[in-house]
Amino acid sequence: MKIHANFECGNIQFINQDGNEIFLTNEMRGTIRDSAYYWAFCVEGAAGKTLNFHLDREWVGPYGAAVSHDLINWHWSESSLDGASFSYTFAPDEDRVYFAHDLLYTPSRLCSLLNELKITPFTVCRTLRGRDVPAFKIGNGSKNIILSSRHHACESPGSYVLEGMIREYIKNPIPDTNLFVLPIVDFDGVTEGEQGKDRDPHDHNRDYIEGNIYPEVGAIIDYASDKEITYAVDFHSPSHRVGRSNRIFVVRKFPELQERFDTFGKLLEKRCGGEAMTYDMKYDVYPNVSWNKDTTPTFSTYFNKRPDCKLALTLEVTHYGTDDNKVTAERLVNTGRAFCRALDDYSKM
Ligand SMILES: [Zn+2]
Repeated sequence: MKIHANFECGNIQFINQDGNEIFLTNEMRGTIRDSAYYWAFCVEGAAGKTLNFHLDREWVGPYGAAVSHDLINWHWSESSLDGASFSYTFAPDEDRVYFAHDLLYTPSRLCSLLNELKITPFTVCRTLRGRDVPAFKIGNGSKNIILSSRHHACESPGSYVLEGMIREYIKNPIPDTNLFVLPIVDFDGVTEGEQGKDRDPHDHNRDYIEGNIYPEVGAIIDYASDKEITYAVDFHSPSHRVGRSNRIFVVRKFPELQERFDTFGKLLEKRCGGEAMTYDMKYDVYPNVSWNKDTTPTFSTYFNKRPDCKLALTLEVTHYGTDDNKVTAERLVNTGRAFCRALDDYSKM
């Protein structure tokens, strides 16, 4: 049997094995704070066995591990033993299985989405480690919308919502708009399975500064530099199971802009629920509350400061949800569809 992280988005370190008990730890990889929950590993050659996997921290969610056979489609193992462990019974023909902290959104899934929707990406810049970063444009209107996700590499659920937004926009565009989408901002971090959040010396969503260091952030700023930007949305995911982390919420900026967040929030509440996750405005984080400082140089701080921008926000999308509002890949994608409709509603006000 082989346990490894030698694949797209892999991150694990094997500690030891005692019979059917496997002990593992995840790798920090350049993250400087002790909040690095991300892990993803592959097990090969365990067909027919039942194994218990133990992380050395409580980084396992309530529905067990996310499970995949192709790195594109993911579901929950539903076999959490406790906050740090899960079990898995491998079918007799199950030779290779991927496990992860949450439902991963890999570059392979993005590729498969773009092929399916017949969207041709272009290279918007090259990463610090020499990878071509894909971006794409869709729509034909005069109003510019910027969408992004994975400023923090480990935050996959936001990418599913972005996928839903794109699917809905193609089916039912917001009149007179065009989209510029940079779907995987920290492209090195996502591809290599890094945490991404709280990188040393700062992460991609703290790089909206003079002399920014990440080419992907530079590409977003460049794109926006000679255009009016009407809406800008950045999709994220919160920390592992603390406070409002089991919810979907908006990170609001600047006290004087609250009316627009109230208006959009009410529209999003109405569009969400049912086949999509529910969203309740009461979980939003208000400006200058807790970690949400208006002085932090994030994507949404940057665009909220611009007078042309009529709405700029960070949407935080839970990894797990709650038993009555549970995360599945399909429900996250449907949440993106709901988000697109809410933005269309907002544009008509
Ligand atoms: Zn984030």
